Amino acid sequence: MASPDNVPHAGRRAFLRGRASARTTIRPPWALLEPRFLDACTRCGECVETCPEQVLVIGTGGYPEFDPRLGECSFCGSCVDTCASKALDRSTTSLPWHWKAHIQHDRCFAEQGIVCASCADGCPERAIRLRPALGGIQTITVDPAACTGCGACVSLCPATAIALRIPEAPP
Ligand code: SF4
Ligand code: SF4
Ligand code: SF4
Repeated sequence: MASPDNVPHAGRRAFLRGRASARTTIRPPWALLEPRFLDACTRCGECVETCPEQVLVIGTGGYPEFDPRLGECSFCGSCVDTCASKALDRSTTSLPWHWKAHIQHDRCFAEQGIVCASCADGCPERAIRLRPALGGIQTITVDPAACTGCGACVSLCPATAIALRIPEAPP
């Protein structure tokens, strides 16, 4: 059952890290809602150290962030298990987070007629579909019910056409 306590902070800030980009701050999975996360996290860095996928980084203010450009979160739970301060806490919800893959269609190679299916091929949940369309292009869709927000597609996309976002609630 989802809880407000684990809906991640979605505030955006622009920063430079190798290339210019605007990136959403994504806390590690099962993080408390900000600002409760900021209160609880001691910035010990243990979660970053323990992550076997090496997809967590020390971000702004010394707080941990998930960077999907580095790879996929396997939801192994090691970061949660090592968090002594319970800033990451699986007891409040079974959902690790609410992030979903979002395609920037005007950047996608396949939608411009260039052969590419890296995201669909690499998605462990088979949540991405490419369908032939007129003019030799493909149309691409993400099934939000299947997408776990793991970030694998983000790191695999050669066009940097995918980001993680929290979908807006239906009206
Ligand atoms: S759940 Fe596992 S793979 Fe995902 S961020 Fe935590 S330690 Fe890394
Ligand atoms: S975030 Fe993960 S589950 Fe979602 S579409 Fe990308 S690879 Fe598939
Ligand atoms: S990997 Fe990127 S460029 Fe390739 S089909 Fe997927 S979204 Fe498009």
